Amino acid sequence: MSTLRFHAIKKSLNKKPIKIEEAERRSNIFCANVFNEDKMRQYLTKEAFVSVMDAIVNGTKIDRVVADHISTGMKEWAISKGVTHYTHWFQPLTGATAEKHDAFFEPIGNGRAIEKFGGGQLVQQEPDASSFPNGGIRNTFEARGYTAWDPTSPAFVYGTTLCIPTVFVAYTGEALDYKTPLLRALQAVDNAAVEVCKYFDKNVKKVNASLGWEQEYFLIDRGLAASRPDIQLTGRTLLGHSSAKGQQLDDHYFGTIPKRAMQYMRDLETECMLLGIPVKTRHNEVAPNQFELAPVYDEANLAVDHNSLLMDVMDKVAQRHDFKVLFHEKPFAGVNGSGKHNNWSLSTNTGVNLLGPGKTPMSNLRFLTFFINTIKAVHDNEELIRASIASASNDHRLGANEAPPAIISVFIGEQLTNVLDELQNVTNGKLSPEEKTDLKLNVVGKIPEILLDNTDRNRTSPFAFTGNKFEFRAVGSTANCANPMTVLNTIVANQLIEFKKEVDNLIDTKGLKKDEAIFNILREYIKKSKNILFEGNGYGEAWEKEAKKRGLSNHKTTPEALKAKVSKKTIKIFEDLGVLNKVESLSRYEIEMEEYVLHIQIEGRVLGDIARNHVVPTAVRYQNMLIENVKGLKEIYGRDFKKFAKQQMTLIEEISGHIESINSNVTKMINERKTANHIEDIDKKADAYCNKVKPLFNEIRYHCDKLELLVDDELWPLTKYRELLFTN
Ligand code: ADP
Ligand code: MG
Repeated sequence: MSTLRFHAIKKSLNKKPIKIEEAERRSNIFCANVFNEDKMRQYLTKEAFVSVMDAIVNGTKIDRVVADHISTGMKEWAISKGVTHYTHWFQPLTGATAEKHDAFFEPIGNGRAIEKFGGGQLVQQEPDASSFPNGGIRNTFEARGYTAWDPTSPAFVYGTTLCIPTVFVAYTGEALDYKTPLLRALQAVDNAAVEVCKYFDKNVKKVNASLGWEQEYFLIDRGLAASRPDIQLTGRTLLGHSSAKGQQLDDHYFGTIPKRAMQYMRDLETECMLLGIPVKTRHNEVAPNQFELAPVYDEANLAVDHNSLLMDVMDKVAQRHDFKVLFHEKPFAGVNGSGKHNNWSLSTNTGVNLLGPGKTPMSNLRFLTFFINTIKAVHDNEELIRASIASASNDHRLGANEAPPAIISVFIGEQLTNVLDELQNVTNGKLSPEEKTDLKLNVVGKIPEILLDNTDRNRTSPFAFTGNKFEFRAVGSTANCANPMTVLNTIVANQLIEFKKEVDNLIDTKGLKKDEAIFNILREYIKKSKNILFEGNGYGEAWEKEAKKRGLSNHKTTPEALKAKVSKKTIKIFEDLGVLNKVESLSRYEIEMEEYVLHIQIEGRVLGDIARNHVVPTAVRYQNMLIENVKGLKEIYGRDFKKFAKQQMTLIEEISGHIESINSNVTKMINERKTANHIEDIDKKADAYCNKVKPLFNEIRYHCDKLELLVDDELWPLTKYRELLFTN
């Protein structure tokens, strides 16, 4: 009998939900572990406080003397919370967060010591970062990397460590992390949007991008997960036959949250409150043991940090509850995968959501301006948008057997489709007074403040307008949101700059009034962006055909999709806006391709091991049992034995057939891997892994899964889908 599987199942049955005490009101503990404005007022000198706030709001530099004051205040606050260490907390391109703890403690001789944390230590550090991916930047420039404080994201205490959010850059200035380009993109969209806002309101000084992510995940009993080498090493099941019951009955979605999971969520939410992550929503998702958690949206840089921090905290809290969190986009074949919708909007320092319709025709024209410019940006850069969410794990959702597809399109709902249709017919050039009045009263004036029919019911659109924000749904559940957010904000910034130029040009050269010029440019944008708008079911062959006719890309695999990140057009946009220079773009591309290769390589190795060391020996054992049985029947019945042993003998042959197919395919896969590993060129190597190695996974899996159905359940060593998905 396979011990680990049955031992884990037995243990899982006895696990009780952990009691969680929520003594305090959540509003009382919110941000208790965050060095936010309140704490700064309390712990900083007036001068230091003013300086930090200025840095946060206006991006000014903090001088060295003031930095010393700030670090002292921060240290005092942290020590009051029992903190002993500090760390620069950053997001290297590995996808995980990185930290290296140093103690405040410092000996000063004569057996005495003090707690020390200077401005220098706050502002800049040099982690030994040679093992973080850099895509050749450090080799090229022989530069070391350093981390630098990002005052716009507040320091926080986690456990007994003070964490200081930082960027991670090479000494020559190239970004080595996710945060640096994001901050640059947010600056770019701020500048561009403020300029466009001035057509409508001269008082706008700053525009912030907002992000509200929705994190989907699976929660699996820790023991059961540990019994599966594929889950342990790759975060997903590489084989396993579907459970007889999956999600067909839709009985999990929005159902009662299982008790153990509920206690996990409550515990997690308390941690989130302390860390200032404003989580608000929790519910069951479509697949069994799949859940979702979403916060109230925030400024994008902070929201990105919060999501990275959250994923880390989710892992840690799960250990207390004997769960393993699966963030993988497709941990189980045949049931829903996980995504991370990125809800995005732009808002001004005057409190206006630029993607929210308003009460007056003028505010609606402003809304339409930002709405249509976003659509145009997505239209012009659909391949780059696709590239921004490409990863080996997300390939299992996009373009595989699940919505949203790999084709990027925009859903806007019927009401707004009608508005755009009307605007498309606006007169070229100057508008008559009647037309203007008509536009104001009957088109722009008729956009309701709250858009009611904006629900994209089948939820298949990768990029949908949902009332007052765009919802980028194709983002994968493992993703660092900084990647798609950097791209989205950059292309929108680029588009807004172009728009401003074109409108100003019409005003200056054709003598059009401001609103006439805006209507004229928007009309052209609507015509040019038509192909990206799609209201139908964005999933399946019909749409694929239609999209092809429209000239939309349909990159089903990561190596194919990523190429858009290094197209001439992309490199230029990123360079023009100061988000990534050419070296940075190229190095990121290389890192992502390399990561893809490594991912598939690891999966291939694990699958090969499981197939040969777990599945085949088990099948042989069962086959031997059958052979013994046949021998016994022969002993009893002599020549007549076949009458009674027919089924067994068929089974013996079937098993041999599957074993043979598994072995030959594993050998084939190993050979393909070897060939691929010898390829130097990263494009060709990724292509080989994608198109030569990976397709063999399906072959191997098919035969393993068939064996799972044939072999005696008591012998099967791998915890089955029904056990993984329905134990809670
Ligand atoms: P769902 O997509 O599950 O139906 P909602 O669309 O209601 O949920 O909201 C999902 C997320 O969108 C939440 O995190 C919410 O805070 C965020 N959100 C709401 N308004 C905005 C906005 N203006 N900008 C960015 N995010 C927003
Ligand atoms: Mg959503």
